[in-house]
Amino acid sequence: MRLDIGKYLVTGGAGFLGSHLCDRLVEGGHDVLCVDNFFTGGKANIAHLLGHPRFELMRHDVTFPLYVEVDRIFNLACPASPVHYQHDPVQTTKTSVHGAINMLGLAKRLRARILQASTSEVYGDPEIHPQVESYWGRVNPIGPRSCYDEGKRCAETLFFDYWRQHRLEIKVMRIFNTYGPRMHPNDGRVVSNFIVQALRGEPITIYGDGSQTRSFCYVDDLIDGMVRLMDSPADFIGPVNIGNPNEITMIELAERIVGQVGGPSTIVHKPLPADDPRQRQPDIAVAREQLAWAPKVGLEDGLRETIAYFRHQLAA
Ligand code: NAD
Ligand code: UDP
Ligand code: UDP
Repeated sequence: MRLDIGKYLVTGGAGFLGSHLCDRLVEGGHDVLCVDNFFTGGKANIAHLLGHPRFELMRHDVTFPLYVEVDRIFNLACPASPVHYQHDPVQTTKTSVHGAINMLGLAKRLRARILQASTSEVYGDPEIHPQVESYWGRVNPIGPRSCYDEGKRCAETLFFDYWRQHRLEIKVMRIFNTYGPRMHPNDGRVVSNFIVQALRGEPITIYGDGSQTRSFCYVDDLIDGMVRLMDSPADFIGPVNIGNPNEITMIELAERIVGQVGGPSTIVHKPLPADDPRQRQPDIAVAREQLAWAPKVGLEDGLRETIAYFRHQLAA
């Protein structure tokens, strides 16, 4: 898949997903301006791009205005794991809301197309399963996850109001759990936790009884969906779910990872965090129809790549 327009801004470009997106865009022949404040991202994720003539890095916090000249904007800046976004919850809401306002203001001045990396968390702890885009969600407005969930919901509101009020070209993508190389080893997310624990021969920490479910998408598939959405016709604005519908329990995930890593890991149970959703699975009919997109990488192959990455990281 190839995008056909010049200079791209990627906010959060030094993060897990952002760095893979920068790779894809540079490979596709585009100029990329990567903007990041390095809160959770790191230069190591984009070190290989630093000398590239089509790549530029700028340290900047999106809660402050940004005046640059670009053709299209991917807005990914925001800590994504519960451990990180709960570290400074006020800053998390500011990043989602002020960050969206600033990037939308930038897009408005430039008349640039802008894509928002939204999240399945807008559905909260869902009553309908799998989740379709028309479902409004069940989100606690005052809990420990609210800074992220409500921040992302407000960002979606802003995107749709800039579309209605200023006729901006918007794209809203609801990303479901994604994993792969360059996940942060200490971000507390389940795939990185389990792999690192298994590689170290430590007990695997299952929160609650482990019967809660998630559906994991490999990063390459996710980036493919993101690029297709950005490149889709102007009248398709979303929101659109991008994720892998292959749903599994955390117990099954632990067994799969221990099996693939090999070695002696045992399982320990820890308390379930507050507001932890019971189940999550994307309905991807809209993405299939509108973007001709579906995930291709199965869990076994994706985990193999991710395990190899962490094995290398831990050895370094
Ligand atoms: P990440 O934490 O690796 O990346 C986020 C990046 O944003 C980091 O590089 C961080 O330094 C940067 N950032 C944070 N606050 C900033 C600010 N105020 N100004 C500038 N940069 C800032 O997370 P990720 O997994 O790559 O997530 C990227 C986006 O995708 C996020 O918006 C996240 O909400 C969304 N998302 C991710 C997932 C997933 O499973 N990975 C799921 C749903 C949504
Ligand atoms: N903004 C920005 N870069 C620009 C244009 C605007 O960061 O190139 C910010 C600016 O700080 C503003 C926000 O985007 O507060 C929203 O801009 P908009 O034009 O929608 O609103 P206004 O300027 O009227 O507040
Ligand atoms: N989880 C777990 N052990 C861990 C980390 C997470 O059992 O070491 C659980 C967590 O409670 C949740 C699921 O795995 O039910 C996914 O957690 P993650 O933080 O990766 O994503 P999210 O809850 O945001 O979907």
